[in-house]
Amino acid sequence: MGAEKTESTEDGGNTAPPPGRAVSRRALLLGGTAAVGVGVYALAHDELGRLRWRIPGVVKKRKEGAVDARGVQWTAASSANWRRADRPDDYEIDRVVIHVVQGSYRTALKVFKDPGHGAAAHYVVRKDGHIAQMIRELDVAFHAGSRDMNERSVGIEHEGFVDKKESFTDAMYEASARLTAGICERYDIPVDRKHIIGHVEVEGTDHTDPGPHWDWERYLRLVRRERDRPARTKAPA
Ligand SMILES: [Zn+2]
Repeated sequence: MGAEKTESTEDGGNTAPPPGRAVSRRALLLGGTAAVGVGVYALAHDELGRLRWRIPGVVKKRKEGAVDARGVQWTAASSANWRRADRPDDYEIDRVVIHVVQGSYRTALKVFKDPGHGAAAHYVVRKDGHIAQMIRELDVAFHAGSRDMNERSVGIEHEGFVDKKESFTDAMYEASARLTAGICERYDIPVDRKHIIGHVEVEGTDHTDPGPHWDWERYLRLVRRERDRPARTKAPA
């Protein structure tokens, strides 16, 4: 879970990012206004087009209650726990981050709806395989404790506890793998451990989830199986 209060400050909270991640990084490293000018000037024309949503009054149309995956149920997180974006146009999505709640499904939904929590994931998977979507994939969820990782990833929480192997049921693995396979398909993300990672693997984190009982080998096998399933025979989520 990306629960720490510090996360919103690490993430830069709700403040809009400077236009163009790569450009701002480079500018930051070079540390001069001249560098910023050159970087912005060098932005490709279509890249500027992608930043249109940042202009006040220009936002991508969203349908209330719309979800990104089949069979998931929409229940909104507090808008304080994520940032509006236009992924994958403004930020490329190339990671899926696996979390464990350290609590129940209900607890996860409750805290992600709490504006004071400062963190939330896109999805929460229940032990019976039911999945809630709380933040759209086009938006940046504050789940990984790292601004860079939040901008490039989709976060999936799993009901249960890192030290309880029995938290991770067959139904949970199956449903979560189906969800991750869909995400990998949507954004052309390779199904491997470099791109599907645990919160524990996010640089600089002090979180340990999903913990030693999460069966990565099994999970990746299931994700690959779902990915390779012909579309027409794909099990309904
Ligand atoms: Zn976590």
